[in-house]
Amino acid sequence: MTNHLFSLVRDGVPDSAKTAIETPDGRRTSYADLIARSGAYAAALQAAGVAPGDRVAVQVEKSPEVIFLYLGAVRAGAVFLPLNTAYTPAEIGYFLGDAEPALFVCDPSRRDALGEAAANVGRIWTLDAAGGGSAAEAADQAADAGGAFADVPRGPEDLAAILYTSGTTGRSKGAMLTHDNLASNARTLVDYWRFTADDVLIHALPVFHTHGLFVATNTVLASGGAMLFLPRLDPRLILSLMPRASVLMGVPTFYTRLLKEPGLTPETARGMRLFVSGSAPLLAETHREWQARTGHAILERYGMTETNMSTSNPYDGDRVAGTVGFPLPGVSLRVVDPETAAVLGPDSVGMIEVKGPNVFQGYWRMPGKTAAEFRADGFFITGDLGKVDARGYVHIVGRGKDLIISGGFNVYPKEVETEIDALPGVVESAVIGLAHPDFGEAVTAVVVGGAGCPDEAGVQAALEGRLARFKCPKRVLFVDELPRNTMGKVQKNLLRETHAGLYRD
Ligand code: AMP
Repeated sequence: MTNHLFSLVRDGVPDSAKTAIETPDGRRTSYADLIARSGAYAAALQAAGVAPGDRVAVQVEKSPEVIFLYLGAVRAGAVFLPLNTAYTPAEIGYFLGDAEPALFVCDPSRRDALGEAAANVGRIWTLDAAGGGSAAEAADQAADAGGAFADVPRGPEDLAAILYTSGTTGRSKGAMLTHDNLASNARTLVDYWRFTADDVLIHALPVFHTHGLFVATNTVLASGGAMLFLPRLDPRLILSLMPRASVLMGVPTFYTRLLKEPGLTPETARGMRLFVSGSAPLLAETHREWQARTGHAILERYGMTETNMSTSNPYDGDRVAGTVGFPLPGVSLRVVDPETAAVLGPDSVGMIEVKGPNVFQGYWRMPGKTAAEFRADGFFITGDLGKVDARGYVHIVGRGKDLIISGGFNVYPKEVETEIDALPGVVESAVIGLAHPDFGEAVTAVVVGGAGCPDEAGVQAALEGRLARFKCPKRVLFVDELPRNTMGKVQKNLLRETHAGLYRD
């Protein structure tokens, strides 16, 4: 047996001298180096006693070294467990207690602060953004010992990674992803998005999340392409790299930030073949502006930690703004009535459920939660509300938990947000439900206004007649910006917490 996921990379290597990863300082890692360095990490993990199936938890700054460590863990048969760099020591304590890793790798500057959180972990290594630290030293020593690493055999069903969900309600849950969940999705995306060894991807996403680690990295490495690896979103740097690149993958914030740069022109984007957006809804207006400015239609796709990628707009054919396209080959998607589970027809809004080789195995040590989120016929209940239109395009309406029930009526926040966003002077909005003594929940709009934006009464007056009365916001609050997490998702839970008492007298 081979190592199922790593075989995808090995088999994709076009020419081992070819560059796999390049950083802005000009440092290049060839495919031969990638294989040698990940092998050195795999050997170091084995020497440290990490056995197949053991978790390797990692909270470090982005650098190519993290990719070598990730592939090294996979090759050693371990389970890679990346953690958001923003997590506090208390949060890390929860993850380490839950996952019980054999090894924890952290930034040297946080080693002391995390000591207590990691007290029960047998071994701690460090790794900094420049690729230094005891983890890198252990890999150096393993490399000096010589010999190519023999990959630990792992089958399609073996675990390759655990990614904790962002946990905006309740505790974060560890999504268990197998070698084939990741390998099959990467293969599908290579085909669907036409990746080849000639591709050069601008990689400015974090690598602790499914988007940057799996969608971007696995897809490029499986096709033998190259990545220009940036530590973070830097719009000017991205623009300066575009003439050397072919693909950009980003969250919607990437596109709104790039649109603010005068340097974004058809000329700059001429050599690019594909712009992909996901992880949060892309405004139809951003899609239109991008097309007007660059001549390219952004390709929006939809997925989540638990399912990898489930849908995508087509490579050829209409990339319809405000939709996430069609189910990917091999993925079944249906929309059901959340109460009765009856499958709904075109254009009816309900719960989105998916099934396929992309869907995870369940939540780590949470059999009850796992059972509650799968149907008996194997479909995973995503928690996203949406619909499939008559042409088969999937539309996401929002998270089920964001649904507002006001006076007994269901209000889909996106419908209200779309109307508010269309008002002159409105930059963007988030609509939430807040506890209300009469209505149960009251529809409440939080608006970022620019020049010419109407005031509260003006917004309410503009919506009257456009939306049914029960959908119109009872209050409109103005803010300078909406709270977002690193993946660009608006944190409605924070807005709900901040304004929880609005209708209490
Ligand atoms: P995560 O597990 O962090 O990747 O978050 C997944 C969630 O992000 C999904 O369940 C959706 O709610 C949301 N999401 C991802 N892609 C899109 C998209 N293209 N449009 C709207 N929501 C999206």
